[in-house]
Amino acid sequence: MSELVLAINSGSSSLKFKLFEVPSEKVITSGLFERITQKEGGFRIKTEAGEVRRTLALPNHEVAVNVLTKALIEFNIVKSLDEIKAIGHRVVQGGKHYFDSVEFTDEVAAVVRKLIPFAPLHNPAHLTGYEAFKKILPNVLNVAVFDTAYHQTMAPEDYLYPIPYEYYEKYDIRRYGAHGTSHKFIAEEITKINKGKPCNLIVCHLGNGASITAVKDGKCVATSMGLTPLGGIMMGTRTGDLDPSVFYFVSQLDGKSATEVYDLFNKKSGMLGFSGISSDVRDVENAFLQGNERADLTFKLYSRRVADYIGQYHVRLGGTDAIVFTAGIGENAPILRKQIIDQVKDALQIDFDEEQNRLTRGGIYGLLTTKQSKVKVYVIPTDEELMIVRDCVRILKAKRQQ
Ligand code: ADP
Repeated sequence: MSELVLAINSGSSSLKFKLFEVPSEKVITSGLFERITQKEGGFRIKTEAGEVRRTLALPNHEVAVNVLTKALIEFNIVKSLDEIKAIGHRVVQGGKHYFDSVEFTDEVAAVVRKLIPFAPLHNPAHLTGYEAFKKILPNVLNVAVFDTAYHQTMAPEDYLYPIPYEYYEKYDIRRYGAHGTSHKFIAEEITKINKGKPCNLIVCHLGNGASITAVKDGKCVATSMGLTPLGGIMMGTRTGDLDPSVFYFVSQLDGKSATEVYDLFNKKSGMLGFSGISSDVRDVENAFLQGNERADLTFKLYSRRVADYIGQYHVRLGGTDAIVFTAGIGENAPILRKQIIDQVKDALQIDFDEEQNRLTRGGIYGLLTTKQSKVKVYVIPTDEELMIVRDCVRILKAKRQQ
């Protein structure tokens, strides 16, 4: 018998959703609520008759959830909300507490609340999403799917920082990583491609936020993101790794408070701050193609950081079988992929298929290396929502067997 499961990804001012039929994993509908809390918000949702877009004020996530549940009925996507058996919520920060997805209860919500300082933009939005669904669908199973869970297999020497140990003991300051759901999805896809054969994998999740993970036999051994999503490689608006003294000098020289510098490093740096053009790779790419020097240097800076992590993880893994590019930039930016691979191809004996690289964009699968290549390079479109739904199904099944 087929049932429906809803995957929810709440951001600070947005709510993305995908409704799946299970066990077929068919997507019934998907859509997005935007500009929540702003004067004029809106949503779009896929229906049988095409995409519907509406503009309306969305003062908070609860209103968005109300509108979503009504829209599912109004557009004949479901006959009754009772068809939905579980709701999976992406949760960015689960700290040291969660190694796997769990039933989202009020106890779990209390932990997610405590972790807000480590994910100030994301965790509050996840909580309001959870509370809103609990009110509207009080009898439906909620599941929390943590971005950090997949990285819990790292060894202490990979997740601890060389600061006085008491900061770890007292405040849990350590590396947690992010995008775990995406990294795990890619690791499972590669396991399928390899027919279960163990392998060493470097996953480059390059979106607006970005992280690189070293995977050994399906498990994460190292990841580039740190305590918060600010660490690792350069991103759309975030610095990634820096000498920590940069923080001190920017604060001293510019008379900025710690909060102001933190904000500058999170929201006004990376592609945006360095290029002075945009946080979006498409805009920087246009400038690059027109010969803009800063755009050229931005791409050089970005690809160098990714290449350096690939080199580090190649050594960390004791050799690499495959590198995978995924997420917005990984799936759509052949120029950057080529710049990255050009820097590692001699050391890793990669025979890169440039034509295949050029053709692989727009959310499609691609193998970017020839048969002679020692290391395979893939593009695999990520599907975090599908992973969320798979975890919901697993937890729903376990609960029913209790
Ligand atoms: P996030 O989920 O972190 O917001 P995404 O994975 O959606 O990020 O990636 C968003 C980024 O992907 C955009 O900022 C843009 O730089 C890049 N991107 C998306 N489509 C394209 C494209 N067609 N060409 C180049 N870059 C693209």
